[in-house]
Amino acid sequence: MSCGMSEAPRNSSTGPTEAAAIAGVPHASGTSAGDVPLEKTPLETYVPPAKPSLIGLSRAQISDHLAAIGVAPAQRRMRAQQLWHWMYVRGARTFGEMTSVSKDMRAELEKHVTVDRPEVVAEQISNDGTRKWLLRLPSGNNLEKPHEVECVYIPETDRGTLCVSSQVGCTLNCSFCHTGTQRLVRNLTAGEIVGQVMVARDRLNDWPSASSPPGEEKTHRLVTNIVMMGMGEPLYNFDAVRDALLIVADNEGIGISKRRITLSTSGVVPNIVRTGEEIGVMLAISLHAVRDELRNELVPLNRKYPIAELMQACRDYPAASNAKRITFEYVMLKGVNDSLDDAKRLVKLLKGIHAKINLIPFNPWPGTHYECSDWDQIEKFSEYIFNAGYSSPVRTPRGRDILAACGQLKSETEKLSARERQALRAMAMTD
Ligand code: SF4
Repeated sequence: MSCGMSEAPRNSSTGPTEAAAIAGVPHASGTSAGDVPLEKTPLETYVPPAKPSLIGLSRAQISDHLAAIGVAPAQRRMRAQQLWHWMYVRGARTFGEMTSVSKDMRAELEKHVTVDRPEVVAEQISNDGTRKWLLRLPSGNNLEKPHEVECVYIPETDRGTLCVSSQVGCTLNCSFCHTGTQRLVRNLTAGEIVGQVMVARDRLNDWPSASSPPGEEKTHRLVTNIVMMGMGEPLYNFDAVRDALLIVADNEGIGISKRRITLSTSGVVPNIVRTGEEIGVMLAISLHAVRDELRNELVPLNRKYPIAELMQACRDYPAASNAKRITFEYVMLKGVNDSLDDAKRLVKLLKGIHAKINLIPFNPWPGTHYECSDWDQIEKFSEYIFNAGYSSPVRTPRGRDILAACGQLKSETEKLSARERQALRAMAMTD
């Protein structure tokens, strides 16, 4: 949920004006947490296009396609590996580019499958280099308006982080999050998730040139880190997210280390341990409150998996260690969750967990009832946690001029006129 932000030094002089970071949503007054449904049901199931893409398929699934076009059993494994290399190391966008594959086989493949990724329908580039793409998802459903998701690239001096979506809309209803207001249309496929990484590399010209010698194809890449923090709750789309992240981490392909991939969840407890066992990536928890009563309101899923259960799942997380700390995201809401008592409870709660806390100044959204904590209070909160031995960076906004926070590009594109969009962008730059 927190893409579009990056860490700033603890004692950053960034004031609250510059630091407002996260998108808020109108929070209906008088609505109790109990009124908010915990989970939404998907409106649609995925229908593949007539010519499906090989992106996101396992090697075994690619072999099945090769079998269907008559490739001999003895050759399938090697051919699948060849295609894998062209897709994920070289970034080939057509079979025509795959010069080590025979012409006949390329022609056969072209008749039945593609290596298409989602289509870029809008691109915004921020003054600070943050890029945001609105991506259209092809499907076999003849929809009047195809579905779209967003994906954000955040460059920093030592890395480039891509914030990836896992659902069209979101299963959950976190009250401070813009995406939470959207309906859950459907889960993304593994191909649509990997496809976001492919698109980012396409747009950033981040594939090796044809002349790169073997072995040097993966050096100096721009996209170095992945965070599953875009639209959607990834652990409600577990299988596709797992399959996609294993492809992204595959050493014979895109090869982004699992230590550079972070999956952020609101706390789908049963799938947290599975994430450690079956994917093995870094974990982030959208915590935001240390008392069940408040967390029930901010993250209504808490009513199903309360804080104590969530913390136990974190203690049991297989991949956690001192070197692989779990990140706890905590949005700073004035007078709601930002007292020193909250900070004390937070420290108590995290006892025994290798943890790092990301404090996120709230960026009020028109109509929201929440306000960002005062900067002094954020510093006091951060100081207390830091003195208790936890890293507690305050995240500063990135791409504010392009509204690079979760759910905003899509929502604004759908709901606002061009003039309104411009006004909002201006506000984001100056407020
Ligand atoms: S799970 Fe994430 S994307 Fe979904 S509503 Fe909550 S914060 Fe927003």
